[in-house]
Order: sequence, then structure tokens, then C-alpha cells
Amino acid sequence: MFETKFTCDICGEVRKQTNKWFVSIPGQGIHILGFTEKLAKKKGNSCLCGEKCLHVWVASLAPILHVVHEIPETGKEVVQ
Ligand SMILES: [Zn+2]
Repeated sequence: MFETKFTCDICGEVRKQTNKWFVSIPGQGIHILGFTEKLAKKKGNSCLCGEKCLHVWVASLAPILHVVHEIPETGKEVVQ
């Protein structure tokens, strides 16, 4: 029987039973639940292999969450 493989949306790691994984659910704000196959298979949800990738995922949302940018007093945008 074919076993469904789940891979981390951040680092691509294949899920093993022993790992503590999370599933992130799109929507307003940040929704993160413990891993279940049902959640992981749902379209639009992201699999995250652990706290490390969870943090990366949250950080990737920062540009969306912080829609208001601070504009320096010079009026010019800071280029990094
Ligand atoms: Zn990962």
C-alpha cells in the first residue's frame, strides 16, 4: 500500500513518525496546529517539520503582517 509522504514546505524534509510537526492554516492571522494527516492533506495548508521551520514560516509572513512601512524622515526608502 502506498504511504502518503509529507514534506516540509520550508526545508523539504520528509516527515518521519517521530518528528513533531505542525500544520499552518491560511487565513487572517497565524493559525498553527499539531500535525494530522487530514490537516496536512487539505489544500492550502502548509506542513512544517518543527519549531525551527515554524519560525521561518512565521518570519515569511512578516511582510504581510506588517503592511505599514516606516518611512524615514528623509522621505527616501532605505535600500539594504
Ligand atoms: Zn522543515
